[in-house]
Amino acid sequence: MSSPSPSPATPPPSRTAVVIIGAGPAGLTVANVLRAAGVDCVVLEAESREFIERRPRAGFVEEWAVRALARHGLADRLLERAQTQGEFEFRCEGARHTVRTARLSGRRHFVYPQPLLVGDLLASYADRAGGAVHFEVRDVQLHDVEGPQTAVSYRDPRTGERHRIACDHIVGADGARGVSRAAIPDGRVRLTRYDHGVAWLAVLAEAPPSADGVVFGIHPRGFGAHMARSAQVTRYYLEVPAEDDAADWPDDRVWAELHLRLAADGARPLHEGPLSEKTVLAMHNYVVEPMAYGRLYLAGDAAHLLAPIAAKGMNLAVNDALLLGEALIAHYKGDDRGLAGYSAAALRRAWQYLEFSQWLSELLHGASSGDRFRAGTASARLRRLLGSEAAAKSFAGLYLGEEADL
Ligand SMILES: Cc1cc2nc3c(=O)[nH]c(=O)nc-3n(C[C@H](O)[C@H](O)[C@H](O)COP(=O)(O)OP(=O)(O)OC[C@H]3O[C@@H](n4cnc5c(N)ncnc54)[C@H](O)[C@@H]3O)c2cc1C
Repeated sequence: MSSPSPSPATPPPSRTAVVIIGAGPAGLTVANVLRAAGVDCVVLEAESREFIERRPRAGFVEEWAVRALARHGLADRLLERAQTQGEFEFRCEGARHTVRTARLSGRRHFVYPQPLLVGDLLASYADRAGGAVHFEVRDVQLHDVEGPQTAVSYRDPRTGERHRIACDHIVGADGARGVSRAAIPDGRVRLTRYDHGVAWLAVLAEAPPSADGVVFGIHPRGFGAHMARSAQVTRYYLEVPAEDDAADWPDDRVWAELHLRLAADGARPLHEGPLSEKTVLAMHNYVVEPMAYGRLYLAGDAAHLLAPIAAKGMNLAVNDALLLGEALIAHYKGDDRGLAGYSAAALRRAWQYLEFSQWLSELLHGASSGDRFRAGTASARLRRLLGSEAAAKSFAGLYLGEEADL
Protein backbone atom coordinates (compact mmCIF):
# COMPACT_ATOMS: atom_id res chain seq x y z
CA MET A 1 0.00 0.00 0.00
CA SER A 2 1.39 3.39 -0.98
CA SER A 3 1.83 6.07 1.69
CA PRO A 4 1.52 9.76 0.85
CA SER A 5 4.65 11.84 0.30
CA PRO A 6 5.73 13.62 3.50
CA SER A 7 4.47 17.14 4.11
CA PRO A 8 5.92 19.61 1.61
CA ALA A 9 6.29 22.01 4.54
CA THR A 10 9.19 19.98 6.04
CA PRO A 11 12.19 22.23 5.26
CA PRO A 12 15.45 20.59 4.16
CA PRO A 13 18.48 21.07 6.43
CA SER A 14 21.15 23.50 5.23
CA ARG A 15 23.83 20.88 5.93
CA THR A 16 24.05 17.09 6.19
CA ALA A 17 26.76 14.46 5.94
CA VAL A 18 25.53 12.71 2.77
CA VAL A 19 23.04 13.82 0.11
CA ILE A 20 21.61 10.86 -1.79
CA ILE A 21 20.13 11.68 -5.20
CA GLY A 22 17.48 9.12 -6.21
CA ALA A 23 15.11 6.94 -4.18
CA GLY A 24 15.46 3.73 -6.16
CA PRO A 25 16.80 0.46 -4.75
CA ALA A 26 20.38 1.86 -4.69
CA GLY A 27 19.66 5.21 -3.02
CA LEU A 28 17.22 3.83 -0.48
CA THR A 29 19.52 0.98 0.52
CA VAL A 30 22.39 3.42 1.16
CA ALA A 31 19.97 5.68 3.09
CA ASN A 32 18.81 2.82 5.33
CA VAL A 33 22.35 1.64 6.07
CA LEU A 34 23.54 5.18 6.91
CA ARG A 35 20.49 6.01 9.01
CA ALA A 36 20.84 2.80 11.05
CA ALA A 37 24.46 3.76 11.81
CA GLY A 38 23.54 7.31 12.81
CA VAL A 39 25.14 8.99 9.76
CA ASP A 40 23.02 12.01 8.71
CA CYS A 41 21.67 11.92 5.18
CA VAL A 42 18.97 13.45 3.00
CA VAL A 43 17.36 11.73 0.01
CA LEU A 44 16.20 13.80 -3.00
CA GLU A 45 13.77 12.14 -5.43
CA ALA A 46 12.39 13.60 -8.66
CA GLU A 47 9.14 11.60 -8.62
CA SER A 48 6.34 11.30 -6.07
CA ARG A 49 6.24 8.54 -3.49
CA GLU A 50 3.08 7.13 -5.06
CA PHE A 51 4.81 6.89 -8.44
CA ILE A 52 7.98 5.12 -7.28
CA GLU A 53 5.99 2.65 -5.21
CA ARG A 54 4.13 1.57 -8.36
CA ARG A 55 6.77 1.79 -11.11
CA PRO A 56 7.06 -1.78 -12.44
CA ARG A 57 10.51 -3.05 -13.37
CA ALA A 58 12.60 -5.83 -11.86
CA GLY A 59 11.29 -8.99 -10.28
CA PHE A 60 14.21 -11.27 -9.42
CA VAL A 61 16.40 -10.77 -6.39
CA GLU A 62 19.39 -13.08 -5.98
CA GLU A 63 19.79 -15.08 -2.79
CA TRP A 64 23.07 -13.41 -1.73
CA ALA A 65 21.37 -9.99 -2.09
CA VAL A 66 18.41 -11.12 0.02
CA ARG A 67 20.80 -12.38 2.70
CA ALA A 68 22.79 -9.15 2.60
CA LEU A 69 19.61 -7.05 2.91
CA ALA A 70 18.46 -9.31 5.75
CA ARG A 71 21.73 -8.70 7.64
CA HIS A 72 20.73 -5.01 7.67
CA GLY A 73 17.15 -5.80 8.74
CA LEU A 74 15.82 -4.83 5.28
CA ALA A 75 14.34 -8.10 4.05
CA ASP A 76 11.59 -8.99 6.57
CA ARG A 77 8.67 -8.29 4.22
CA LEU A 78 10.53 -9.75 1.25
CA LEU A 79 11.14 -13.01 3.11
CA GLU A 80 7.48 -13.12 4.17
CA ARG A 81 6.00 -12.42 0.76
CA ALA A 82 8.46 -13.44 -2.00
CA GLN A 83 8.14 -16.71 -3.83
CA THR A 84 11.31 -18.55 -4.74
CA GLN A 85 12.22 -20.19 -8.03
CA GLY A 86 14.81 -22.86 -8.60
CA GLU A 87 14.38 -23.91 -12.21
CA PHE A 88 13.53 -22.56 -15.63
CA GLU A 89 12.84 -23.82 -19.09
CA PHE A 90 14.27 -23.25 -22.54
CA ARG A 91 11.81 -23.86 -25.38
CA CYS A 92 13.44 -24.43 -28.72
CA GLU A 93 12.24 -26.13 -31.95
CA GLY A 94 9.05 -27.27 -30.19
CA ALA A 95 10.86 -29.04 -27.31
CA ARG A 96 11.08 -28.14 -23.60
CA HIS A 97 14.38 -28.32 -21.70
CA THR A 98 14.36 -27.73 -17.96
CA VAL A 99 17.47 -26.37 -16.20
CA ARG A 100 17.32 -27.10 -12.46
CA THR A 101 19.26 -24.10 -11.26
CA ALA A 102 18.64 -24.64 -7.54
CA ARG A 103 19.87 -28.24 -7.66
CA LEU A 104 22.89 -27.18 -9.71
CA SER A 105 23.88 -24.14 -7.63
CA GLY A 106 22.28 -24.67 -4.21
CA ARG A 107 20.64 -21.24 -4.51
CA ARG A 108 17.30 -19.75 -5.58
CA HIS A 109 15.85 -16.61 -7.11
CA PHE A 110 13.42 -14.61 -4.99
CA VAL A 111 10.51 -13.27 -7.04
CA TYR A 112 9.74 -9.86 -5.56
CA PRO A 113 8.56 -6.98 -7.75
CA GLN A 114 10.78 -3.90 -7.52
CA PRO A 115 7.96 -1.53 -6.37
CA LEU A 116 7.43 -3.74 -3.31
CA LEU A 117 11.13 -3.61 -2.44
CA VAL A 118 11.18 0.18 -2.96
CA GLY A 119 8.08 0.46 -0.73
CA ASP A 120 9.71 -1.66 1.99
CA LEU A 121 12.96 0.36 1.88
CA LEU A 122 11.03 3.65 2.04
CA ALA A 123 8.85 2.46 4.92
CA SER A 124 11.94 1.37 6.85
CA TYR A 125 13.93 4.58 6.20
CA ALA A 126 11.28 7.31 6.20
CA ASP A 127 8.36 5.97 8.25
CA ARG A 128 10.07 3.86 10.90
CA ALA A 129 13.51 5.48 11.19
CA GLY A 130 12.31 9.06 10.47
CA GLY A 131 14.84 9.58 7.64
CA ALA A 132 14.55 12.74 5.50
CA VAL A 133 13.36 12.36 1.92
CA HIS A 134 12.12 15.12 -0.39
CA PHE A 135 9.96 14.00 -3.30
CA GLU A 136 9.23 15.67 -6.64
CA VAL A 137 12.33 17.86 -6.41
CA ARG A 138 13.13 19.79 -9.61
CA ASP A 139 16.32 20.89 -11.33
CA VAL A 140 18.80 19.09 -9.04
CA GLN A 141 22.32 20.50 -9.34
CA LEU A 142 25.61 19.29 -7.86
CA HIS A 143 28.12 21.93 -6.71
CA ASP A 144 31.87 21.75 -6.10
CA VAL A 145 31.97 17.97 -6.44
CA GLU A 146 35.77 18.06 -5.88
CA GLY A 147 35.25 19.84 -2.52
CA PRO A 148 35.57 21.46 -0.11
CA GLN A 149 32.30 23.42 -0.65
CA THR A 150 30.35 20.37 -1.83
CA ALA A 151 26.58 20.87 -1.99
CA VAL A 152 23.43 19.81 -3.81
CA SER A 153 20.65 22.25 -4.67
CA TYR A 154 17.14 21.79 -6.05
CA ARG A 155 13.96 23.72 -6.69
CA ASP A 156 10.90 23.05 -4.56
CA PRO A 157 8.05 22.37 -7.01
CA ARG A 158 5.43 23.87 -4.71
CA THR A 159 7.09 27.14 -3.69
CA GLY A 160 9.52 27.52 -6.59
CA GLU A 161 12.18 28.25 -3.94
CA ARG A 162 15.72 26.92 -4.45
CA HIS A 163 17.24 24.95 -1.54
CA ARG A 164 20.92 24.25 -1.12
CA ILE A 165 22.22 21.46 1.14
CA ALA A 166 25.93 21.51 1.97
CA CYS A 167 27.38 18.04 2.50
CA ASP A 168 30.56 15.98 2.84
CA HIS A 169 29.61 13.44 0.15
CA ILE A 170 27.06 12.93 -2.62
CA VAL A 171 25.67 9.54 -3.58
CA GLY A 172 24.55 9.66 -7.22
CA ALA A 173 21.87 6.95 -7.31
CA ASP A 174 19.59 8.62 -9.83
CA GLY A 175 19.47 5.86 -12.41
CA ALA A 176 20.21 5.90 -16.11
CA ARG A 177 18.62 9.30 -16.81
CA GLY A 178 19.76 11.22 -13.73
CA VAL A 179 22.01 14.25 -13.40
CA SER A 180 24.82 12.91 -11.19
CA ARG A 181 26.90 11.26 -13.89
CA ALA A 182 26.72 14.42 -16.01
CA ALA A 183 28.23 16.45 -13.13
CA ILE A 184 31.58 14.73 -13.71
CA PRO A 185 33.75 16.88 -16.02
CA ASP A 186 34.56 15.41 -19.45
CA GLY A 187 37.58 13.18 -19.50
CA ARG A 188 37.66 12.43 -15.77
CA VAL A 189 35.92 9.04 -16.05
CA ARG A 190 35.62 6.55 -18.88
CA LEU A 191 32.16 5.65 -20.20
CA THR A 192 32.06 2.34 -22.07
CA ARG A 193 28.96 1.37 -24.04
CA TYR A 194 27.88 -1.93 -25.54
CA ASP A 195 24.77 -2.44 -27.63
CA HIS A 196 23.32 -5.94 -28.09
CA GLY A 197 21.71 -4.67 -31.30
CA VAL A 198 18.20 -5.84 -30.38
CA ALA A 199 15.16 -4.47 -28.58
CA TRP A 200 12.61 -6.17 -26.36
CA LEU A 201 8.97 -5.32 -25.96
CA ALA A 202 8.33 -5.66 -22.20
CA VAL A 203 4.70 -6.25 -21.25
CA LEU A 204 2.95 -6.91 -17.97
CA ALA A 205 -0.12 -9.10 -18.32
CA GLU A 206 -2.87 -9.15 -15.75
CA ALA A 207 -3.01 -12.90 -16.04
CA PRO A 208 -1.72 -15.74 -13.87
CA PRO A 209 1.61 -17.33 -14.84
CA SER A 210 1.36 -20.17 -17.35
CA ALA A 211 4.44 -22.08 -16.22
CA ASP A 212 6.07 -22.70 -12.85
CA GLY A 213 9.21 -20.70 -13.58
CA VAL A 214 10.92 -18.60 -16.21
CA VAL A 215 10.52 -19.72 -19.81
CA PHE A 216 13.00 -18.59 -22.47
CA GLY A 217 11.67 -19.20 -25.99
CA ILE A 218 14.41 -19.36 -28.62
CA HIS A 219 12.80 -18.93 -32.03
CA PRO A 220 13.84 -17.84 -35.54
CA ARG A 221 11.14 -15.10 -35.37
CA GLY A 222 12.81 -13.69 -32.24
CA PHE A 223 13.26 -14.42 -28.57
CA GLY A 224 10.23 -14.58 -26.25
CA ALA A 225 10.04 -14.99 -22.47
CA HIS A 226 7.57 -15.66 -19.67
CA MET A 227 8.29 -14.68 -16.05
CA ALA A 228 5.94 -15.01 -13.10
CA ARG A 229 5.59 -11.82 -11.06
CA SER A 230 2.73 -12.84 -8.73
CA ALA A 231 -0.30 -15.14 -8.73
CA GLN A 232 -2.17 -12.55 -10.85
CA VAL A 233 0.56 -10.87 -12.90
CA THR A 234 3.02 -12.22 -15.49
CA ARG A 235 5.82 -10.43 -17.30
CA TYR A 236 6.44 -11.29 -20.93
CA TYR A 237 9.18 -10.18 -23.30
CA LEU A 238 9.30 -10.28 -27.09
CA GLU A 239 12.33 -9.45 -29.20
CA VAL A 240 11.19 -6.75 -31.66
CA PRO A 241 12.89 -4.63 -34.35
CA ALA A 242 14.87 -1.83 -32.69
CA GLU A 243 12.89 0.85 -34.58
CA ASP A 244 9.47 -0.40 -33.33
CA ASP A 245 7.51 1.36 -30.64
CA ALA A 246 4.77 0.05 -28.38
CA ALA A 247 2.02 1.32 -30.74
CA ASP A 248 3.24 -1.21 -33.36
CA TRP A 249 2.22 -3.98 -30.95
CA PRO A 250 -1.53 -4.13 -30.30
CA ASP A 251 -2.50 -6.78 -27.72
CA ASP A 252 -3.64 -9.33 -30.35
CA ARG A 253 -0.30 -9.18 -32.09
CA VAL A 254 1.58 -9.56 -28.79
CA TRP A 255 -0.41 -12.67 -27.81
CA ALA A 256 -0.11 -14.21 -31.29
CA GLU A 257 3.70 -13.89 -31.20
CA LEU A 258 3.94 -15.12 -27.61
CA HIS A 259 1.89 -18.23 -28.43
CA LEU A 260 4.13 -18.89 -31.40
CA ARG A 261 7.50 -18.26 -29.78
CA LEU A 262 6.72 -20.05 -26.50
CA ALA A 263 5.02 -23.07 -28.08
CA ALA A 264 6.38 -26.53 -27.23
CA ASP A 265 5.09 -30.09 -26.96
CA GLY A 266 3.40 -30.65 -23.61
CA ALA A 267 3.53 -26.94 -22.60
CA ARG A 268 0.49 -25.44 -20.85
CA PRO A 269 -1.31 -22.88 -23.05
CA LEU A 270 -0.65 -19.25 -22.10
CA HIS A 271 -3.28 -17.52 -19.96
CA GLU A 272 -4.18 -14.30 -21.72
CA GLY A 273 -5.19 -11.11 -19.90
CA PRO A 274 -5.18 -7.33 -20.31
CA LEU A 275 -1.70 -5.84 -20.89
CA SER A 276 -1.11 -3.13 -18.30
CA GLU A 277 2.36 -2.03 -19.44
CA LYS A 278 3.99 -2.09 -22.87
CA THR A 279 7.47 -0.63 -23.36
CA VAL A 280 10.14 -1.12 -26.00
CA LEU A 281 13.57 -1.41 -24.35
CA ALA A 282 16.82 -1.11 -26.29
CA MET A 283 19.16 -3.85 -25.09
CA HIS A 284 22.23 -1.79 -24.34
CA ASN A 285 24.71 -1.39 -21.50
CA TYR A 286 27.18 1.17 -20.20
CA VAL A 287 29.77 1.28 -17.45
CA VAL A 288 31.37 4.33 -15.81
CA GLU A 289 34.94 3.82 -14.54
CA PRO A 290 35.80 4.72 -11.89
CA MET A 291 32.42 5.01 -10.14
CA ALA A 292 33.68 7.91 -8.05
CA TYR A 293 34.88 11.43 -8.71
CA GLY A 294 35.87 13.85 -5.95
CA ARG A 295 33.16 13.58 -3.31
CA LEU A 296 30.61 12.03 -5.65
CA TYR A 297 30.03 8.26 -5.58
CA LEU A 298 27.81 6.71 -8.26
CA ALA A 299 25.70 3.65 -7.42
CA GLY A 300 23.31 1.42 -9.36
CA ASP A 301 22.12 2.29 -12.87
CA ALA A 302 23.74 5.73 -12.62
CA ALA A 303 27.09 3.92 -12.77
CA HIS A 304 26.31 0.91 -14.94
CA LEU A 305 23.27 0.05 -16.99
CA LEU A 306 22.63 -3.60 -17.81
CA ALA A 307 20.01 -4.60 -20.35
CA PRO A 308 17.55 -6.76 -18.36
CA ILE A 309 18.59 -9.92 -20.27
CA ALA A 310 19.87 -11.71 -17.17
CA ALA A 311 17.82 -9.81 -14.53
CA LYS A 312 20.92 -8.37 -12.86
CA GLY A 313 20.54 -4.56 -12.60
CA MET A 314 18.69 -4.29 -9.29
CA ASN A 315 20.99 -6.87 -7.72
CA LEU A 316 24.01 -4.83 -8.76
CA ALA A 317 22.34 -1.69 -7.36
CA VAL A 318 21.97 -3.42 -3.98
CA ASN A 319 25.59 -4.62 -4.10
CA ASP A 320 26.89 -1.09 -4.79
CA ALA A 321 24.66 0.41 -2.12
CA LEU A 322 25.80 -1.97 0.61
CA LEU A 323 29.48 -1.52 -0.27
CA LEU A 324 29.09 2.27 -0.38
CA GLY A 325 26.98 2.51 2.78
CA GLU A 326 29.52 0.50 4.74
CA ALA A 327 32.43 2.50 3.27
CA LEU A 328 30.78 5.81 4.28
CA ILE A 329 30.16 4.53 7.82
CA ALA A 330 33.83 3.47 8.07
CA HIS A 331 34.85 6.95 6.82
CA TYR A 332 33.03 8.58 9.74
CA LYS A 333 34.94 6.23 12.05
CA GLY A 334 38.23 7.40 10.54
CA ASP A 335 38.87 4.57 8.07
CA ASP A 336 38.90 5.62 4.37
CA ARG A 337 39.98 2.32 2.85
CA GLY A 338 36.39 1.38 1.92
CA LEU A 339 35.77 4.64 0.07
CA ALA A 340 39.11 4.40 -1.72
CA GLY A 341 38.33 0.84 -2.83
CA TYR A 342 34.59 1.29 -3.47
CA SER A 343 34.74 1.67 -7.23
CA ALA A 344 37.08 -1.27 -7.82
CA ALA A 345 35.04 -3.52 -5.51
CA ALA A 346 31.70 -2.61 -7.13
CA LEU A 347 33.06 -2.92 -10.67
CA ARG A 348 34.24 -6.49 -10.05
CA ARG A 349 30.66 -7.75 -9.76
CA ALA A 350 29.43 -5.33 -12.46
CA TRP A 351 31.83 -6.72 -15.07
CA GLN A 352 30.98 -10.32 -14.13
CA TYR A 353 27.30 -9.57 -14.67
CA LEU A 354 27.94 -7.68 -17.92
CA GLU A 355 29.92 -10.61 -19.27
CA PHE A 356 27.18 -13.06 -18.29
CA SER A 357 24.50 -10.86 -19.90
CA GLN A 358 26.50 -10.72 -23.11
CA TRP A 359 26.92 -14.52 -23.09
CA LEU A 360 23.21 -15.08 -22.47
CA SER A 361 22.25 -12.50 -25.07
CA GLU A 362 24.10 -14.43 -27.79
CA LEU A 363 22.42 -17.65 -26.68
CA LEU A 364 18.93 -16.09 -26.76
CA HIS A 365 19.24 -13.99 -29.91
CA GLY A 366 21.50 -16.07 -32.17
CA ALA A 367 18.63 -18.04 -33.77
CA SER A 368 16.86 -14.86 -34.90
CA SER A 369 19.98 -12.88 -35.85
CA GLY A 370 19.79 -13.77 -39.53
CA ASP A 371 23.51 -14.60 -39.30
CA ARG A 372 24.37 -18.28 -39.84
CA PHE A 373 27.57 -18.03 -37.76
CA ARG A 374 25.77 -16.54 -34.73
CA ALA A 375 22.88 -18.99 -35.08
CA GLY A 376 25.31 -21.94 -35.23
CA THR A 377 27.37 -20.86 -32.23
CA ALA A 378 24.23 -20.06 -30.19
CA SER A 379 22.88 -23.51 -30.90
CA ALA A 380 26.23 -25.10 -29.90
CA ARG A 381 26.17 -23.05 -26.69
CA LEU A 382 22.67 -24.30 -25.85
CA ARG A 383 23.56 -27.96 -26.57
CA ARG A 384 26.59 -27.69 -24.28
CA LEU A 385 24.51 -26.13 -21.50
CA LEU A 386 21.85 -28.84 -21.78
CA GLY A 387 24.25 -31.73 -22.31
CA SER A 388 27.09 -31.08 -19.88
CA GLU A 389 26.60 -31.06 -16.09
CA ALA A 390 29.76 -28.95 -15.66
CA ALA A 391 28.51 -26.34 -18.15
CA ALA A 392 25.04 -26.32 -16.55
CA LYS A 393 26.56 -25.85 -13.07
CA SER A 394 28.69 -22.96 -14.20
CA PHE A 395 25.67 -21.37 -15.90
CA ALA A 396 23.42 -21.84 -12.84
CA GLY A 397 26.03 -20.27 -10.55
CA LEU A 398 26.25 -17.17 -12.73
CA TYR A 399 22.50 -16.95 -13.42
CA LEU A 400 21.63 -17.06 -9.72
CA GLY A 401 24.58 -14.85 -8.74
CA GLU A 402 27.70 -15.97 -6.88
CA GLU A 403 27.89 -15.24 -3.16
CA ALA A 404 31.36 -13.69 -3.45
CA ASP A 405 32.66 -11.49 -6.26
CA LEU A 406 34.90 -13.32 -8.70
C1 LIG B 1 11.65 -4.09 -17.71
C2 LIG B 1 12.79 -4.21 -16.75
C3 LIG B 1 12.95 -5.41 -16.05
C4 LIG B 1 13.99 -5.54 -15.13
N1 LIG B 1 14.14 -6.74 -14.46
C5 LIG B 1 15.14 -6.88 -13.55
C6 LIG B 1 15.24 -8.06 -12.72
O1 LIG B 1 14.42 -8.98 -12.79
N2 LIG B 1 16.26 -8.13 -11.80
C7 LIG B 1 17.15 -7.10 -11.67
O2 LIG B 1 18.07 -7.22 -10.84
N3 LIG B 1 17.06 -5.95 -12.40
C8 LIG B 1 16.08 -5.81 -13.33
N4 LIG B 1 15.94 -4.63 -14.02
C9 LIG B 1 16.88 -3.51 -13.74
C10 LIG B 1 16.48 -2.72 -12.51
O3 LIG B 1 15.14 -2.27 -12.61
C11 LIG B 1 17.42 -1.51 -12.32
O4 LIG B 1 18.74 -1.95 -12.46
C12 LIG B 1 17.22 -0.85 -10.98
O5 LIG B 1 16.04 -0.08 -10.96
C13 LIG B 1 18.40 0.07 -10.63
O6 LIG B 1 18.16 0.72 -9.40
P1 LIG B 1 18.74 2.18 -9.13
O7 LIG B 1 18.35 2.52 -7.74
O8 LIG B 1 20.16 2.24 -9.52
O9 LIG B 1 17.99 3.12 -10.18
P2 LIG B 1 16.44 3.48 -10.33
O10 LIG B 1 15.58 2.36 -9.88
O11 LIG B 1 16.29 3.98 -11.73
O12 LIG B 1 16.24 4.68 -9.32
C14 LIG B 1 16.73 5.97 -9.58
C15 LIG B 1 15.81 6.98 -8.93
O13 LIG B 1 16.33 8.29 -9.15
C16 LIG B 1 15.27 9.16 -9.49
N5 LIG B 1 15.84 10.27 -10.26
C17 LIG B 1 16.18 10.33 -11.57
N6 LIG B 1 16.69 11.52 -11.88
C18 LIG B 1 16.67 12.27 -10.75
C19 LIG B 1 17.07 13.58 -10.43
N7 LIG B 1 17.60 14.39 -11.37
N8 LIG B 1 16.91 14.02 -9.18
C20 LIG B 1 16.38 13.21 -8.21
N9 LIG B 1 15.98 11.93 -8.46
C21 LIG B 1 16.14 11.48 -9.71
C22 LIG B 1 14.32 8.29 -10.28
O14 LIG B 1 12.99 8.81 -10.30
C23 LIG B 1 14.41 6.97 -9.52
O15 LIG B 1 13.45 6.88 -8.49
C24 LIG B 1 14.89 -4.46 -14.93
C25 LIG B 1 14.73 -3.25 -15.62
C26 LIG B 1 13.68 -3.12 -16.51
C27 LIG B 1 13.51 -1.80 -17.26
